Amino acid sequence: MANIIDGKAVSAQVKEKIRGEVSELKEKGIEIGLAVVIVGDDPASQVYVRNKEKACELVGFNSYKYALPAETTEEELLALVDKLNNDDRVDGILVQLPLPKHLNDKIIIDNIRPDKDVDAFHPVNVGKIMIGDYSFLPCTPAGVMELIDSTGVEVAGKQCVVIGRSNIVGKPQAMLLLHRSGTVTICHSKTRNLKEICSGADILVAAVGRAKMVTSDYIKEGAVVIDVGMNRDENGKLCGDVDFEDCKEKAGYITPVPGGVGPMTIAMLMKNTLTAGKMHHGID
Ligand code: NDP
Repeated sequence: MANIIDGKAVSAQVKEKIRGEVSELKEKGIEIGLAVVIVGDDPASQVYVRNKEKACELVGFNSYKYALPAETTEEELLALVDKLNNDDRVDGILVQLPLPKHLNDKIIIDNIRPDKDVDAFHPVNVGKIMIGDYSFLPCTPAGVMELIDSTGVEVAGKQCVVIGRSNIVGKPQAMLLLHRSGTVTICHSKTRNLKEICSGADILVAAVGRAKMVTSDYIKEGAVVIDVGMNRDENGKLCGDVDFEDCKEKAGYITPVPGGVGPMTIAMLMKNTLTAGKMHHGID
């Protein structure tokens, strides 16, 4: 039976550490603020935004929520981003994606000040990650690294396979594993012999979006298996890309869904916001 990696516990530890730092900063009169912008009424986005507000409250950040109607124009949204870019109370700006179809995510993200881009989606931050000189890491891949670290397994020298090459998960994930000296293979929908490649991985990260696609014949005995996927199974139940029940005997460490990577994403957003706040106040 694999060791189950408890994302809730690891994320609670990360947030607790942040809470401690925030309270020390408050004693010095320094407050940290995160602005969260949501456009429209997508139910999943509403839940994510609520969870982000709760996390801010827990760690002691000021959170500023801007809920805009679905028909908000690009000019209106850009004007808000500009206002937040210039608001000293705001250390981090998060525009909840996806935006309604008439708004272009890329244009909006490109207009967030890079030093307030706590999602690390701005091209400047993406480029910095590539060269290994970064302030912020994208939240989900950074959370995955914390979960791997929680196992005590060293990444250096290991065969690492990432399934998925999206800009928000797969690509930055591969880069973070590479920065830690893993030998990294990136797989995608055109990859041949996916099963064979995955079964050679000491560390396997699945970020595909296909319910229970990764079965035990994809994994190496004793591997660290991290499941980023958030899907619904045939009964409408939340599940990952990994067939947990099938893989849990063979893996060395495995994340459940829910309760694995999901809770880490918000914890890493809090970490990035703290980093941004400290930068803005000239603290290392
Ligand atoms: P995308 O749809 O942007 O990317 C999916 C990737 O999987 C693509 O690179 C695609 O390949 C690849 N892929 C699709 N089908 C196959 C296949 N049969 N074999 C191999 N590769 C395949 O998704 P995201 O990266 O945004 O998200 C991935 C999953 O992670 C989703 O379930 C999402 O909900 C979840 N997620 C969870 C988060 C969390 O906090 N836990 C945060 C973000 C995402 P190609 O490029 O060739 O199309």
